[in-house]
Amino acid sequence: MMLKACLAWAFFCLVVVLPVRAFDWETATSNGREYVSLRSFCLFYGFPYSVPNGNDRFTSRNAAHSISLKIGNSDMYLDGVHYVMSFPIEGGGNDWLVSRMDVIKLFEPIIRPSEVSGRHTIRGVVIDAGHGGTDNGATSRLGAEKNYTLDTAFRLQKILRDAGLKVVLTRSNDVFVDLYERAHIASLYPDYAFVSIHFNSATPEARGLETYCLSPRGAASTSSNYLTRGDIQKLPGNDYDTQNILLAGMVHSEIIKLNPGDQSADRGVKRARFVVIKQNVLPAILVEGGFVSNHMESQRVDQSSYRQSLANAIARGVIRFCNDMGDRNMSLPGGSRDDNEEAPISKPPPKAIPVAPAAPSGLAHDSPNVKPVATTTTLSGTTVSTHKSKKKNKPATTPPAVTPTPPTAETPPPSSTPPAAESTPPVPATTNAAPATSTPSSPLNLTEPAAPTPTPGAEKAPAEPDEPPTVNIYPTTPAAPAKSSAPAPSTPASTPSAPTATPPASTNAPSSSEGAQP
Ligand SMILES: [Zn+2]
Repeated sequence: MMLKACLAWAFFCLVVVLPVRAFDWETATSNGREYVSLRSFCLFYGFPYSVPNGNDRFTSRNAAHSISLKIGNSDMYLDGVHYVMSFPIEGGGNDWLVSRMDVIKLFEPIIRPSEVSGRHTIRGVVIDAGHGGTDNGATSRLGAEKNYTLDTAFRLQKILRDAGLKVVLTRSNDVFVDLYERAHIASLYPDYAFVSIHFNSATPEARGLETYCLSPRGAASTSSNYLTRGDIQKLPGNDYDTQNILLAGMVHSEIIKLNPGDQSADRGVKRARFVVIKQNVLPAILVEGGFVSNHMESQRVDQSSYRQSLANAIARGVIRFCNDMGDRNMSLPGGSRDDNEEAPISKPPPKAIPVAPAAPSGLAHDSPNVKPVATTTTLSGTTVSTHKSKKKNKPATTPPAVTPTPPTAETPPPSSTPPAAESTPPVPATTNAAPATSTPSSPLNLTEPAAPTPTPGAEKAPAEPDEPPTVNIYPTTPAAPAKSSAPAPSTPASTPSAPTATPPASTNAPSSSEGAQP
């Protein structure tokens, strides 16, 4: 009898009591920005934790994922894929801090895609070939970006249709389509995803691949050192923040395979407020498929085999996203290249991320008796600065003075500081079950900024271009058509309003230089 009573009580605790207990994050604030400790981050996501060591990268790996972080640095590697966080890692010798914004808008969707809000079946893809018509985009001696993007779009279209997805093109010939019109076309196709294709241009040395998605509200874009008033406004695309980063991560993880072993060619998943992604009401990304301003990459981009490989890689990421969002099982296209097989750039294989030491006793994620310390700390605002301008490779600071204060639910940020992110954060229901699969509750509640205030002086900062700035090193070279062997697709019968050859009068047509893409 007694045994039955004990079992009943144990069952009650397991089923009724524990699930309602929220995860106790160790949180901190600095200049109004909210952070969680690396220790509780690791505990939540099941990464073995050890006290980070100075300027060394913190690396850890669990059964499903690996992470690599560095103090004062925004560059993060998750499962070997480069992401640029909205805010650098803060803290010091005792523990490091991860911004709540990045936990919610980056780590959570990538690590736990099953918890992404608004999951639904993705029925098709709007493919946006960058530039067109009078807008050549970037040019090299070999060709123009507008032709490369259209050719790649056709190839991607075929792959996705073969996989069973519907496809719409924002342009299917050499015409100029206004950026806002492109986003409008996307809005006509609910339950689609949006992929914009571009090729980069900068200094001759710049090379590699990068994938953009919309900056979360309250975070500056990757290319900016300042938080501006515009960064605080909620944009249409911000409704899809978690889906945007998931799509970007999946596509980027596939396209970087085009440069096996060449980690330097992984420029990362970055944030921006380009028109075609900020005005978009679909999960949206912008892919930069290589630098036409780089001698080696301009030759690759000019080869149809490379563009086919790029289209294949994008398709794999898109289909993975569609499968994940809609619990489908579409088969992925092979990674093989077309007839004109092109050898990848030969580089030494990447070094494996070392596995962090085993978690100290009592910290093991799956320990049934773990009860994370519920602590809210406030860091000295003068010791720990989170100003965006310091995000890059900031030297490690000495451990900030941490003054424990009674746990409080939420501390609204001072009006003079940038706002925190706005959505509900991830939180497991229990601390003894595997958090990675538990239902989030809400310890990381984020509040909408009441009176957003940009960084002092930021009002004078130049507005972010519609797309990454283009540096045409061969501005006078006539645009040669890309050598395409892809079948010219017929105009999709379902194409909504065919893109107009001329932009609306009021348009935000990209200016000849900076308005174009990277
Ligand atoms: Zn472009």
